[in-house]
Amino acid sequence: MSDLNLTSELAFLYNLQQIDADILTRRKKLKSIPNDIRKLREDFGVHEQKLNALKDQLSQVEKEQRSQSAEIGALDEQRKKYQTQLTSVKTNDEMKALYNQLEFIDKQEEEIEDNILEFMLTIDDLGGEIKKEREILSVKSADYKVEEAKLQEIAQGIEEDISEIQETRQDLVQKIAPDLLRQYQSRTTTQYASLVAPVVGNNCGNCKLTIPPQMLNEIKQSTKKIACPSCKLILFELPDSERANGATSE
Ligand SMILES: [Zn+2]
Repeated sequence: MSDLNLTSELAFLYNLQQIDADILTRRKKLKSIPNDIRKLREDFGVHEQKLNALKDQLSQVEKEQRSQSAEIGALDEQRKKYQTQLTSVKTNDEMKALYNQLEFIDKQEEEIEDNILEFMLTIDDLGGEIKKEREILSVKSADYKVEEAKLQEIAQGIEEDISEIQETRQDLVQKIAPDLLRQYQSRTTTQYASLVAPVVGNNCGNCKLTIPPQMLNEIKQSTKKIACPSCKLILFELPDSERANGATSE
């Protein structure tokens, strides 16, 4: 195996590492999107609940108002009865008693009408609040649909990007020496892990350890795999073109 081969093999594997890290980042983002959509729905649900609570309140007040109106109806019936009796009273005492009853009915009706008036004001207020909340909800519903569509579009974009990157990855995998690839894959079966790191300046590109000059020379000669004494990743010199791009490691 020539010197150049080991360096370029390690460089290819480094590219693969970076691609895998990139895919992982995109997958994480993709995974978070359903949660973002769920949060949007929850926020919408809070406003829906508020509207429903107002509607319940309104129907409760309306029910009370109806029952009070029914009471007025009953009192009116009572009044008619007393008025009929008035036409056939025999004594002053009887008449006085009937007038007292009629007065009592008037007083009761007055109180009930006050209640009904208050209920009507409350019904008006609730109607206004419900109208406002409905408007908020309709704006929210439009916003929420736009936001959800946006998130779904982002998710789709990420999926497309990933499958594009996967194609590049497939091509790259062909170029990597099988033993090196196996060594890398055995690390990444359970979770993402690097196998190689470029030398950046005089430092390990992964853990930033300063590499002793003797070791640096050996890496440059590239006759064998040399692991960073600290993080144990295999070190290699980046080809000139990639060094110019300012490569960094994960
Ligand atoms: Zn290191």
